[in-house]
Amino acid sequence: MVTTHERETIQRARELYADADRDRLEYWATRARNEVYWQTPFREVLDWSNPPFARWFADGTTNACYNAVDRHVAAGNGDRVALYFEGEPGDTKTVTYAQLQDRVSQTANALEALGVTTGDRVAIYLPMLVEAVVSILACARIGAVHSVVFGGFSADALRSRIDDAQAKVVITADGSYRRGKPNMLKPIVDDALAEPGHSVDHVLVVQRNDENIDWIEGRDKWFHEVVDAQPTAHEVVWVEAEHPLFILYTSGTTGTPKGIMHTTGGYLTQVTATARDTFDLQPETDVFWCTADVGWVTGHSYIVYGPMSNGATQVIYEGTPDTPHRGRWWEIAEKYGVTILYTAPTAIRSAMKWGRDTVDRYDLSSLRLLGSVGEAINPEAWDWYQHVIGNNDGAGTVHDDGTVTPGPRKPDPVPIADTWWQTETGAHILTPLPALSAEDLKPGSAQRAVPGVVVDVVDDNGHTMQDTTQGFLVIREPWPAMARTIWGDDQRFVDTYWSHFDGMYFAGDGARFDEDGDIWLLGRVDDVMNISGHRLSTTEIESALVAHSLVAEAAVVGAQDATTGQAIYAFVILTEDSEGVSQEEAEQTLRDHVGKHIGPIAKPKRILVARDLPKTRSGKIMRRLLKDAAEGQTDADPKALATLADPAVMEEIFAGMRN
Ligand code: ATP
Ligand code: MG
Repeated sequence: MVTTHERETIQRARELYADADRDRLEYWATRARNEVYWQTPFREVLDWSNPPFARWFADGTTNACYNAVDRHVAAGNGDRVALYFEGEPGDTKTVTYAQLQDRVSQTANALEALGVTTGDRVAIYLPMLVEAVVSILACARIGAVHSVVFGGFSADALRSRIDDAQAKVVITADGSYRRGKPNMLKPIVDDALAEPGHSVDHVLVVQRNDENIDWIEGRDKWFHEVVDAQPTAHEVVWVEAEHPLFILYTSGTTGTPKGIMHTTGGYLTQVTATARDTFDLQPETDVFWCTADVGWVTGHSYIVYGPMSNGATQVIYEGTPDTPHRGRWWEIAEKYGVTILYTAPTAIRSAMKWGRDTVDRYDLSSLRLLGSVGEAINPEAWDWYQHVIGNNDGAGTVHDDGTVTPGPRKPDPVPIADTWWQTETGAHILTPLPALSAEDLKPGSAQRAVPGVVVDVVDDNGHTMQDTTQGFLVIREPWPAMARTIWGDDQRFVDTYWSHFDGMYFAGDGARFDEDGDIWLLGRVDDVMNISGHRLSTTEIESALVAHSLVAEAAVVGAQDATTGQAIYAFVILTEDSEGVSQEEAEQTLRDHVGKHIGPIAKPKRILVARDLPKTRSGKIMRRLLKDAAEGQTDADPKALATLADPAVMEEIFAGMRN
């Protein structure tokens, strides 16, 4: 059944595509004028005279904080809730746009009082607190460049990012709550700054968990003390569209992290437009929850800038999904009446592993659209996400033994926007607009480019693929939110992204078209396997494995092999269904299953059952370490281990491979 609202969104999406096809630059100029407030209107749309260094809307001036906060207050929406904060211990805070404007203004004044001016860099090393959002926006407000470093990173990782950006101030917290225990941050900042020779003058410390911390007089200041003392009036600093807004390091899944630099006007245009289009975001009525940490690009673009620039109401949550119980996320979604949920496949696979009872006991009837980001979502996980989470139309019945009979399902399936993009792209690149309506969606495929972005799948010579086999995903034309460079290293920017195919941005991911021309992501090109001359996709074999009831998660790599060139190794986490199944039985069953599903050539040479998979702190599987283990290395490079959420997992896998 198609509702009036759905019909309207379908119509709107068609118009957007048609406008963009007619005149791409005019399309973006119109979006920029409609979605963003400009202090000085731009006349120039795109300057591509010095590729790959793009300049968008360069003669206009604006301010990202003004767009995310002040304009909503000016429009009379100051009482609208901007943020519902939920702390892990259960404490809460509700912040309206008017309150946010005051707090951000005070923080901007405080930063200026500490000597931070336009163009200076500020490192932000905070947990998921309201202050994280406030600090980011306060930097934007004064034209300072923020460099958010994910709160799970080590002192070394933090120090190298501080040095690279030459940050003047670090904003941190004493610590936060994680799995019910204090998780300290300030000591890590102290460690990072222990060796002299750094650029930091001040450390601002948010008081969160009240644990004892060391204090360096003169350098360290309580955030609330310096901010409370400031007036709530602050004049926005208008900046040119190409003024740097932030530096953000990539997650480091494939190599050393790159300090990606984004600028103001084009970035803001595309995150505002895509937040609106991809999620069909209705700021007056929706409650949006993006579960990413602000330390990742998803948090920058789809918590801070995109949704807030639209004036949306959002939920942010400090803690882990399983504290104090495995239903915490669903409890939060029910409590705030979340309508749009945006999360990562790894979270869905964990929820699947924990079982649907943990979801079914809650009422998720408010959900109307789901999003996925970060990795390819296996069709199995996609179906579960839609059916168990999205289509939940009321709490189930909880029985005495703790089991749950599911509640009613929604009459129409809830659409899922599988969004493919990167730190470098700044905003969504591929996603089926929700207007495609649930029936036209393909589980596991991000399908097509957003209006105004020109992508292609090409062969080794940069020619569009003529069949449905694996090629390389590229972006053919500049887009407004594209990275402008790697901070301090223009040459690395050119070499990494622009030197593979003439005039095209190479994303590093493999992809293929299907018969309808929709795009399927197939994993990192570095991970593509070549077995006896056949190119095989890690993503497809992993999805086949996850589709088996024994498997909760899977990672596949190709390792050097004397006879076949490369041999396939699979690492799997088993589900509870696997009780009593031996390693040998599991291996045999799964090899046969892959052989049947994809073909005998795709049968893994070895399948190792593991307790967990090596994941980066952003939740992505780090396949290069698994490849090292499969190729007989006996331990990992410590630098790579340090980027893992749980290094012990990898040590166990190395041990397992030796047996
Ligand atoms: P690094 O570049 O340092 O290795 P990273 O690539 O993991 O780190 P991000 O920019 O956070 O850092 O991630 C972008 C990558 O995530 C994409 O290139 C792609 O491989 C993967 N990805 C993101 N969304 C999707 C999706 N919807 N489907 C498939 N893959 C995705
Ligand atoms: Mg990358």
